[in-house]
Amino acid sequence: MHELSIAMSMVEMAAEEAAQRGGVQVSAIHLKLGGFAGVVKEALLFSYEVACQGTTLEGSRLVIEEVPVVVYCPTCEAETTLASIQRLCCSACGALTSQIVRGRELEVVALELQEKIEVESEE
Ligand SMILES: [Zn+2]
Repeated sequence: MHELSIAMSMVEMAAEEAAQRGGVQVSAIHLKLGGFAGVVKEALLFSYEVACQGTTLEGSRLVIEEVPVVVYCPTCEAETTLASIQRLCCSACGALTSQIVRGRELEVVALELQEKIEVESEE
C-alpha cells in the first residue's frame, strides 16, 4: 500500500530526528497534505498507526493539515481554488487549466517532541 510506505518513512525520519536530539520522543507529526498529492488521508492515518507499532513513536499522533488545490487561470489571470480535483477547471470562468499552484504538498512541517519520561534532563 502506497500510504503505508509513506507513513513508514515518516516514522523512520521522525525517530531518527528524536534520536539525534537525545532524550526526547516524538509525540506528534504535523503534515501538510495537498488534495492533489495522490494520498488518501484516512488511509494515511490508518497506516501511520500501523507504522508506529513497535517503534519509539508508538502512541504519537499524526496531525494532517489539508491543503486545497489552487490552480492558475490564464483567462482570469488569477489563482482559483478547485471545487473538485476531478476537473482542472477555473471555478470562476470554467476554463480548463493545468497550472497547479498548490495542492501537491506532502510534507512534514513540524515534529512535536517531548522529554522521554525515563531520561533525566541534562539542562
Ligand atoms: Zn478563469
